[in-house]
Amino acid sequence: MKESQKKDYEEILGLLKSQGGVYDLKLITKAYEFCLVHHAGQKRWTNEEYYIHPFNVAKIIIGLGMDSCAIAAALLHDIVEDTEVTIEDIKKEFGEEVALLVDGVTKIGRLSFTSKEQQQAESLRKMLIAMGKDIRVIIIKLADRLHNMRTLDAIPEQKQRDKSLETLEVYSPIAHRLGIRPIKEELEDLAIKHLDSIAYDEIEELLKVRKQNREQILEEIKNRIEQRLREEMPGVNLSFQGRVKSIHGIYRKMYIQGKNFDEIYDVYAIRIITDHVADCYNILGIMHDMFRPIPNRFKDYISTPKPNMYQSLHTTVISREGLPFEIQIRTFDMHHTAELGIAAHWKYKEGITGSDQKMEQTLEWIRQILESQEESGDASELVRSIKVDLSQEDVFAVTPKGDVINLPVGSTVVDFAFAIHSAVGIRMVGAKVDGKIVPINHEIKTGEVIEILTTNQAGHGPSRDWVNIAVTNQAKSKIRSWFKKERKAENILEGRTNFDRELKRNAISLTDEEYTELVDDIAHRMHFENSDEFYAAIGYGGILLSKIIPRIRDDYSKIANASKSTEIREIKPRKSHSSEGVIIEGIDNCLVKLSRCCAPLPGDEIIGFITRGHGVSVHKRDCNNVPKDISTASEPERWIPAYWNANKTNSFATSLMISALDRDGILGDVMNTVYNMRIAVHSVNAHQIKGGNCVITITISVENVEHMMSIISRLEKLTGVFSVERTGQ
Ligand code: MN
Repeated sequence: MKESQKKDYEEILGLLKSQGGVYDLKLITKAYEFCLVHHAGQKRWTNEEYYIHPFNVAKIIIGLGMDSCAIAAALLHDIVEDTEVTIEDIKKEFGEEVALLVDGVTKIGRLSFTSKEQQQAESLRKMLIAMGKDIRVIIIKLADRLHNMRTLDAIPEQKQRDKSLETLEVYSPIAHRLGIRPIKEELEDLAIKHLDSIAYDEIEELLKVRKQNREQILEEIKNRIEQRLREEMPGVNLSFQGRVKSIHGIYRKMYIQGKNFDEIYDVYAIRIITDHVADCYNILGIMHDMFRPIPNRFKDYISTPKPNMYQSLHTTVISREGLPFEIQIRTFDMHHTAELGIAAHWKYKEGITGSDQKMEQTLEWIRQILESQEESGDASELVRSIKVDLSQEDVFAVTPKGDVINLPVGSTVVDFAFAIHSAVGIRMVGAKVDGKIVPINHEIKTGEVIEILTTNQAGHGPSRDWVNIAVTNQAKSKIRSWFKKERKAENILEGRTNFDRELKRNAISLTDEEYTELVDDIAHRMHFENSDEFYAAIGYGGILLSKIIPRIRDDYSKIANASKSTEIREIKPRKSHSSEGVIIEGIDNCLVKLSRCCAPLPGDEIIGFITRGHGVSVHKRDCNNVPKDISTASEPERWIPAYWNANKTNSFATSLMISALDRDGILGDVMNTVYNMRIAVHSVNAHQIKGGNCVITITISVENVEHMMSIISRLEKLTGVFSVERTGQ
């Protein structure tokens, strides 16, 4: 061993000692030596000796408190891929357990996530299967990716960007879902640093400048809190920490949500850690006595943990100096879970942290995702569902009995119903939120009490549109599987009708023979047993026609192209009616106008306002121009109930704002999506914003809110799209 290698070995020993666990030193030492011998002479892209990489990955693994086998596997993780050593050799030298881990990491390493959607999904599926077998595999892979990201500067720029994007799309969401916060945040910060270095530097600079002014204030606040708590709670074990929000976290708020740096209230946080849950709530009370809390910023993740097991109380308050900051209160147990997530399972194996239950929850989550993918068969759905299920924010709503249901932001009452039980979802006919009937696409907000109205009528089932209204994977796949099972014959018929209609719309005309050949060919290519199975899959929504038609169109045009000149089809925007489709209570034949400020759509709750001489203008009930409480408005008699006339089908203009990564072809993809759904477009406006992002605003004709939601959900699936929002209020 060289001098430097000896020093590195001692560093490992030191780290193991500071972890305080019981380790198999013989195994770890042997793995370290094995790594030195077999990587000898190899260089990394950074021009360092290769062993430096596995050595650093092992250090990260030790820091997470993982066991000896995981540490050995971290040291050996690149051996099979990069040297002559085989997995059999590893098994002979280090035993079955280490060999399985190395094999898992090697296999994940070969998966590609930067490729086409279909392959990306397949790669994700394989990774989830590997995770399901042994979570340690993915933890080692995360550590591997982290060290590679730390040393990314040495590789070509395009590769830096690819790796960074892959890190943001695949690895950091998984680290988040497994609750390993430090790794998640460092991965995200490093990715942003390479994807948008200008914004990264800007935020870093902002933090530095603000820190100079604020460090002292925060230090004083911390001291004041500490003094008060020690006075009021003598003998209680307390620990205090200060924390600054991650750069990526600030980046999201500034560049994606468009906030000003000073509008972000939780850049600074003070963390208070204690022994018992009851003391957490006591401390919260004292904090709200000391500082003025900002309304609606209190979150109780103790009584309702996040899906990744995170528990804490969060509240945002304002100091005497006018500086907003967050206070996080939790027990030491919760703190370990917040920092280590699933890795706490190994560190506190013998403790009483209940981490085995957490392990089970995580495995259950992986199983669910894999199962639902088998049902939908659409690979891009898997990518999307992982993104949704891994999303950062959650809402909490309550059943009338008081059970809390935890769902991703954007979930609708459909998701809520299926989250209670699939039988509830299937029998749902409507929903009440806080006692009032709401449309089925009602987006759930935290704290709402939701009652699902059901029917016992035989043969009742969900509506097909619900697949588009639901956000969670769980609801979508349950709706699909219901259609798949219950309505086979109908599905085939529906699928065939839709398919034929699409062909017609695309001006594809085929002889009977050509038609049969085409369908058999597609069915075969998509691994269906026969053409009926293919039609049925279209029918229950397992495959999207918009995905397969472009290819058929291309194939067809190649054949038909020879002599005929290509016909260019134009879509004329349908007229958007303004005065029809709304019923004003007690008034017939009056002039009705849909207000411009909020552009209501069928499905929105609406209200009329009797104008002076311009008839009735119709607003969304929650439009800013409508008083919250009509009875206290200045002229209450002018506000008048209005309803949508369900018998009229009209189209209405609505505007959508799409925030996306400013990548090549993004506008084309948006337009293509809309074109494929045969939506008339009235105007398009796209512009770049800071940080390599762009905002596209399109005004289109839609039939109603459900229709609009289905367009939004298609657009959200596009690569690089962060959010799609209806503009107006
Ligand atoms: Mn590696």
